Amino acid sequence: MRPNSLHAADLAHMVHQQTDLDAHGREGAVLISRGEGVRVWDTEGREYIEAMAGLWCASLGFSERRLAKAAHDQMLALPYYHTFFQKGHEPSVRLAEKLAAIAPEGLEHVLFQCSGSEANDAAIKLIWYYNNVTGRPQKKKLIGRIRGYHGNTVATASLSGQPHMQADFDLPLTDRFLHVSNPNYYRFGETGESEEQFSARMAAELEALIAREGGETIAAFFAEPVQGGGGAITPPRGYFDRIQPILKKHDILLVADEVICGFGRTGHLWGSETYGMRPDMLTCAKQLTASYQPLSALLISDRIHAALLEGSRRNGSFGHGFTYGGHPVACAVALETLAIYEERDILGHVRRVSPAFLEGLGQFREHPLVGDVRGVGLIAGVELVADKATKAPFPAAAKAGLKVQEACEKAGLIVRAIGDRIAFTPPLIITEAEIGEMCARFRAGLDAAW
Ligand code: PLP
Repeated sequence: MRPNSLHAADLAHMVHQQTDLDAHGREGAVLISRGEGVRVWDTEGREYIEAMAGLWCASLGFSERRLAKAAHDQMLALPYYHTFFQKGHEPSVRLAEKLAAIAPEGLEHVLFQCSGSEANDAAIKLIWYYNNVTGRPQKKKLIGRIRGYHGNTVATASLSGQPHMQADFDLPLTDRFLHVSNPNYYRFGETGESEEQFSARMAAELEALIAREGGETIAAFFAEPVQGGGGAITPPRGYFDRIQPILKKHDILLVADEVICGFGRTGHLWGSETYGMRPDMLTCAKQLTASYQPLSALLISDRIHAALLEGSRRNGSFGHGFTYGGHPVACAVALETLAIYEERDILGHVRRVSPAFLEGLGQFREHPLVGDVRGVGLIAGVELVADKATKAPFPAAAKAGLKVQEACEKAGLIVRAIGDRIAFTPPLIITEAEIGEMCARFRAGLDAAW
């Protein structure tokens, strides 16, 4: 490594997030310097197809000039204002109005934050607040799922089912966080068990947990429609149909974490639509601004909003908020993003190219290293196995997923290994020709890895 180079400065000063810091110390980082459409280039001039859209988020790719212009125009008109103390600004109002109009039924009030973590963190706070105000102070426990991911604040990392994000951080913070099983049918379905039977078993497990803890102590169940950070895991058939009546019976709120799925990723505007979820709260971020600006939203029902009003009367104010929540530049970019989605019929585009995406990746079921390929819309997970017949996984020390990820990068493709599942979530604008290229590079990566 050259002294005084960008890479040397990176090693000396940058603390990379969610990174194997040993590997970073040995190998350095790939530093990305520009993008065009679904492609990015690193500082050494290497070109990649970005099949993860960054972090499941750059829905319009890496060169949408209209979003840059929307940000520029808003910066000139009003670069900053807040939404505290009965003040506000037009971009946040227009965006709240728009989100309420397109949200699943009954979600009419919008609280803006900056990140998916903050939106889920706020959801947790509001759920506790709601149950205090409505006279149920004992109803506080939250159920997440193993391998579920809802963010990295103290509360959301506690709710997530990702052990390495809790170890040595003294998390989970309290015993209010409970977890049920991961709904990966391929990995955890039993021999001879159908997908529907697996879903019924998952529902029975939830019911047993509620019986054990007491329904009167449980406030909410958080679920990503498709589990992203858990490995791009689509729910097994009938899963949410079985889970929801149980939640209703015990007056447990359903929070749909649409941070990845929201705005077309699953082929519907919301993942909730794809899987028949009727959430009491919904969080979204990432594709809300195509990730050109940091912004998230928590959508809530009238019933929950009424409790905020009541709490505000009781305490003199609704005591929650961040300086940059609902930043006008981010809201202006979100409004332009949503306009582009509609004008270019991005949802229709996702539905048109999804068969090429799912069939293209589906071909890898024949590959000796691949046990399963599953997806919906433009999100899919490819599970690597040591033995196709027995589904035996690779030993962890083999780092099979990482090997494939690195080989793919050499072949000009950015994918993400989550354990031994390789996740794909390309920008929503990807064309069939680019999907073909993506699959060819994946084949080159897979073949080179062994
Ligand atoms: N929820 C889900 C489902 C996510 O995938 C993520 C991030 O990947 C988050 C929440 C956290 O979002 P952020 O990284 O913007 O805080």
